[in-house]
Amino acid sequence: MKKLLTIAVASAMAVSLLAGCGSASGSAGSGKKYVIATDTQFAPFEFTDSNGKFVGIDVDILDAIAKDQGFDYELNSLGFDAALIAVQSGQADGVIAGMSITDARKETFDFSESYYDAEATMATAVGSDIDDFNALAGKKVAVKTGTNGADFAKSMQSSIGFEITEFSDSPTMYQDVIAGNTDACFEDYPVMAYNIKLGAQLEIPDGAQGAGTPYGFAVKKGENAELLTMFEQGLKNIKANGTYDKIIDSYTK
Ligand code: GLN
Repeated sequence: MKKLLTIAVASAMAVSLLAGCGSASGSAGSGKKYVIATDTQFAPFEFTDSNGKFVGIDVDILDAIAKDQGFDYELNSLGFDAALIAVQSGQADGVIAGMSITDARKETFDFSESYYDAEATMATAVGSDIDDFNALAGKKVAVKTGTNGADFAKSMQSSIGFEITEFSDSPTMYQDVIAGNTDACFEDYPVMAYNIKLGAQLEIPDGAQGAGTPYGFAVKKGENAELLTMFEQGLKNIKANGTYDKIIDSYTK
């Protein structure tokens, strides 16, 4: 018995190590444990805080909804592109990762109602003279693989004329711009604003605002309908009882 326990603990540790930068789990009910995939560092939606704890708006919303609806889950921080692939390949049941609801993604995902409104934006290093998209002509642009921001940059690439470099996570992308290897990056406004507030040496030019990009919880199209229904019902409940506002305020005020 003792040996079995040791093995169980060791494999649980191996799983959490494999999960990457952070993971969290919630236990509220009995029965099925849903595997939810998320990004690594996308503050304030998911990130590892200074105490080494994996936190964020998405992390807290998921936990509050799971408690409200009585389901168990394991949250795996895989990276944005990897999280989407995990859901498509059946390795995860759902994704919450500041994921924009787009028509293209609706072909392969079912989305919840939006739980947060963001916009796409461009950011440059502090002091850059790039102040709108047209100023990117002949420049180098950093994007994060598989994101709405990457698609936005690609949609302007041939008309404006710039080079694109892809990164798999936001902090590495920011660092490349700060170091001057690339001239600008594309990121969601609330995420860029949060990182700038924390000291990232980046700025958002006035002419850099892109289209609105509402966030939703997603499952693979045609699968896990019960999970999607619970997410939507739980979201309604946590909005009605004030928990949702408390969570948003705790990261943005
Ligand atoms: N909102 C963007 C998208 O869905 C970026 C999400 C992310 O980087 N976690 O593509």
